[in-house]
Amino acid sequence: MQGSLRVAIVGGGIGGLTAALALRAGGLDVIVFEQAEILREIGAGVSIHPNAARLLKRIGLDDQLRKIGSPIGGITLRTSQGDAITTPEGPATPAFSRDSQGYNVHRADFLNLLFTALPEGTVNLGHRCIGLKKDDNKVRLSFANGSSVDADIVIGADGIHSVIQREIGLESRPASEGTMAYRGLVPAERLAWADELKDPALWLGSGRSFLLYPVAGGRLINMVAFVPTDTDSEESWSAPGDVKALATEYEGWDKPVVDVINSLEETFRWGIYDRAPLPYWSTARVTLMGDAAHPMVPHLGQGAGQSIEDAITLGVLLEGCAAADIADRLRLYETLRLARTSRIQAFARAAGKLYRSEHDDPLEKAGQLSEWMAQGKWLFEHDAEKAARDALAMSGH
Ligand code: FAD
Repeated sequence: MQGSLRVAIVGGGIGGLTAALALRAGGLDVIVFEQAEILREIGAGVSIHPNAARLLKRIGLDDQLRKIGSPIGGITLRTSQGDAITTPEGPATPAFSRDSQGYNVHRADFLNLLFTALPEGTVNLGHRCIGLKKDDNKVRLSFANGSSVDADIVIGADGIHSVIQREIGLESRPASEGTMAYRGLVPAERLAWADELKDPALWLGSGRSFLLYPVAGGRLINMVAFVPTDTDSEESWSAPGDVKALATEYEGWDKPVVDVINSLEETFRWGIYDRAPLPYWSTARVTLMGDAAHPMVPHLGQGAGQSIEDAITLGVLLEGCAAADIADRLRLYETLRLARTSRIQAFARAAGKLYRSEHDDPLEKAGQLSEWMAQGKWLFEHDAEKAARDALAMSGH
């Protein structure tokens, strides 16, 4: 790839690896630096809704995604006692998109899919970035292992505690939503009714919500149980939780909820935080993406999806970019993505509030949710690739 711009991506999570694929497809010379020494299986289920799935199809990952994913039709809403929440129009099972299929996947399966789609040597493990230095012509990244590397463009895909964010003069503080989630996976064979669980199911109770969906081709059932907290729970994906404490939170709830909790061998605590939208993401040669740019609470399942939209946008905007145009292209990326992700951050907060609200009337919640989903065209039917191509054409490039 002689002569093409060199892009260094810091962080080999869903955002960083997808960006590497999208930028390579656009002819750039891409290298990823990931702090982990080995790729380990961490995390549980993650949603790839139609707005992200349609982009993965364009970079040739459709078949693999279908193999590892459980298709999402709509979402079934129930009260804590298991009554289906119906609206005058019928059951409240809002579909996500009319023209594209979304999937729930196991995070480790999905990361593996992205990793293996990249040529060997693209991802450098054991590289924890500790700083960057810029001059007019390049950016130098330095790593805790003593090495350093030069690049024309640096993308910070290094998650919620982003070093790159700090290095470009930003500071964002975690804001708690006042909730924490217990997460866990149960082998489907332990649940007599698991075969019937095709679409995600969400039980809504006062102050709590309980989400189940299949992953790993239906072999595992993913659980996320949101409960109120007034303590500062860790902003961690992997802090061990107490199954007994979880059981107490959901005592007397619908049978599948209790069955899942009784079948868990372990659970993890996840403090639910986001951060206010940042004032900017980019400098002349450095930008941010994914959770480093716009962490959000998980109630719309858009954390991964928005990082995929960022990745594809960068792929379009940096394709064929001349060195002199880097700053303009990164500015265009920020303009396109900052407004949309800020709106989704706010929407995700509002969705969580509604799920947990103390409304006595579940119909009212269902009505509101159905209305949101009907309006959700802007969320699920957005085509980030097209938006980027249109913006590029409009900008005269
Ligand atoms: P991340 O997925 O956080 O990836 C960032 C990557 O950067 C990580 O691999 C990290 O090791 C690496 N990194 C960080 N700092 C440095 C550094 N200084 N140098 C080099 N590398 C660095 N979302 C859900 O909705 N549900 C879940 O169950 C869920 N589980 C998760 C479990 C884990 C372990 C993690 C990390 C994230 C999880 N998420 C989950 C979040 C979800 O994956 C993200 O919201 C989304 O995929 C966007 O990811 P990202 O690539 O921007 O950041």
